[in-house]
Order: sequence, then C-alpha cells, then structure tokens
Amino acid sequence: MLQTVAAFDRIGEENAFAVLARATELAHQGRDIINLGIGQPDFQTPEHIVEAAVKALRDGHHGYTPATGILPAREAVARRTLATTGVEVSPDNVMILPGGKPTMYAAIVMFGEPGVEILYPDPGFPIYRSMIEFTGATPVPVPMREENGFAFSAEETLSLISPKTRLLILNSPANPTGGVTPREEIETLVKGLEAHPQVAILSDEIYDVMTYDGHAATSLLTFPAIRDRLIVLNGWSKTWAMTGWRLGWSIWPDQLYDKVRKLAVNCWSCVNAPAQYAGIAAIDGPQDEVEKMMRAFDARRHIVVEGLNGLPGVTCLMPRGAFYAFPNIRATGWKAKALASALLEEAGVALIGGPDFGVLGEGYVRVSYANSEENILRAIERIGDFLEAGR
Ligand code: PLP
Repeated sequence: MLQTVAAFDRIGEENAFAVLARATELAHQGRDIINLGIGQPDFQTPEHIVEAAVKALRDGHHGYTPATGILPAREAVARRTLATTGVEVSPDNVMILPGGKPTMYAAIVMFGEPGVEILYPDPGFPIYRSMIEFTGATPVPVPMREENGFAFSAEETLSLISPKTRLLILNSPANPTGGVTPREEIETLVKGLEAHPQVAILSDEIYDVMTYDGHAATSLLTFPAIRDRLIVLNGWSKTWAMTGWRLGWSIWPDQLYDKVRKLAVNCWSCVNAPAQYAGIAAIDGPQDEVEKMMRAFDARRHIVVEGLNGLPGVTCLMPRGAFYAFPNIRATGWKAKALASALLEEAGVALIGGPDFGVLGEGYVRVSYANSEENILRAIERIGDFLEAGR
C-alpha cells in the first residue's frame, strides 16, 4: 500500500451521501423532496434494542471493551451465524467493528498493493473500488449483467482471475441492483477458486436475510474448502435498521484474525460499549419487527417495479433481495447521472445514477424503496410527468 497524500487523492466517494445532502438542502429551502436515494431502512431501530443500549449505559458500561468486541456479542454473532447458515463459527473468529465498512477497509488494505489485482462487482457498492484504488492495487470489475439477473456469473468471474489476483469481492444480495446469486452459481465459482489458492475472498453478506420469493442468500461460509481464505462481512445496519449506531461484524480465518485485531487497536480501539449490548439484544430478541419491515419492503417492491415499468422508456427487473430496484433507463434517451440530477432539481425526487456504482451502471438508476408506499407512488408519478414532458 502506498502511504502517501497522493493515495488519498485516489479515494472515491459514496455519492448517495452527496445526494442526501443536496436533498436535505432543497427540503430546507421548502421544496417537497421524495427521497428514494437513501440506502437505509426508513424504520426505527426496534424498541427492545434501544432499551438494551440504555440499560447498558445505566449499568455503567462506559469504558473500552476488548478491541475484537465483548465476548457475549461475539457469541451472539456465532449463534446467529449458525441459525442463518447452519455453519458453526467460533467467537474467536468473530470481530465486532464500527459498521460494515471497516471490514471492507481492513480486508482491502490487507491484500491491496501496487502490482496486484482485486476483483469487485460492477455495478457494486462504490467503496470497494475506492478502497482498492487507495491501496494502489488494480481494480478489476466483474460485470453484474441485467440479462443475468444482476448475479455473479461463475464463468465470467473465474475468467478474470490472473496470477496477480489477490482478492475477490462478492456481494449477494447486492447493492445497488437487488441481485441474488443462485447457489449453483456460487458452487461453480467456489469449485473454480480451488484452482486459485492465492485468491482470498471477501463476501459482503450484509443483506443476507433481506430476500424475497424464496430466493435465499448463499453464505460463502457454507463452503469449507475456502474457509481458510474467506472473510465474511455482515452487520446490524440494515437488518435491524441500525445504520447510525455504527455496528458491524465480520468472520475472519485464524491467520488473519490477529491482524484485524491490531488494526482495530490502532484505529478505533473498540466499538462503543452500549451499541454492542444493543447488538446482542437485536440478535437474541424477537424478530417480529424485522419480519414486519421485510413484509413492507416486499409490498413496496411490487409497487415500485410495476410503477417503473409503466414509465416511458423504463424497464425494471424484479429485485430478489435488499431494498433497491435498478431500472434500465436507456430508452428514455437520458444519461443516468443527468437524469438523477434533473429529477432531484426539477421533480423533487432523489435517486442515484447508476454510474455512481461503476462504469457498467450507465443506463440505470438506483431506486431505494426505503420510503412509504404513498411516497413511492407520488415519486413514480412525478418521474412519469417529468419524462412525458421531455418527449
Ligand atoms: N455493504 C453493502 C453492500 C452496503 O450496501 C452497505 C451500506 O450501504 C455496507 C456494506 C455498509 O454498511 P455499514 O453502514 O454498516 O457500514
């Protein structure tokens, strides 16, 4: 990794934050803005989780915790992993971090340096590429194609591996497309990876329980052959509507665990103690709020997709996971970022241009359905009026 000021000039952005700032600014000016740009649930953290944090504060949990996280939180993650994947992991391989992003950072700086290649999904979460470029490694995009349901193609992914490849980043269910890679495809990919033992895998499974119509997520943990080079990223942000708590976890192989522990000691010491207690309550407590949220997302998913498909020049696949739709807007004649910007400024609808998620995002926009059914319908109407007026 190049530790120079120039390396910082290569760091990218997550444009969703800039769109959020602009949408907030316009709203403060009195404009009625409907925000379909944001990548966070529009639900509150369930009450019993908030109570657990308050109790932890009242009980005096005000100090540092172990850098890896408190043991009960790591044990809770191990229980949850067993419940969702059927795989036993040791709490000694679980790391608690301030959100999902720090795992991305840790894994990418561990493997990235000039001369090596890192594969990542495109369109995909923008921070992958940004952090790869920070390290000086060469980013190699793995296309997520609409005709393939925005899933990973094992064949295409394997064809991009070279002797220089050090890390492969996977994400399913995926941001920004809602794509879910079928298990058979992941099986084929893992089989192929056996011929490339120099390639570590970072599997971003943060949307793991957010799937629809029986399209289950496949955890890479279910493949013992790659466990010694697999890092699994997950966290509380999405499932329990806890984005602002900054609480995530990841599962690391033995030989990397102490390295990430040392990074934590150097960078953030530990995650704030009450949040960790809240995290235990989230995992062990009732899941009815999560189920309620997922039912709401599912209903909105149908509304958003049906609405988008009724717009001139727009076609939209039914997403299989997460809470994003990724409509194809090519036939509108608009460039994606120009359309996103015009819709925000002129129609009061915030969404994100596909190119903010990679070069293959041109021709698409990301529509987050973390907003009420009423607002989604109003937004679709506004987009429709805007597109009609431009014809
Ligand atoms: N991974 C993916 C695919 C995401 O979409 C996000 C957030 O949008 C994250 C990780 C980061 O999560 P956190 O807010 O916990 O850092």
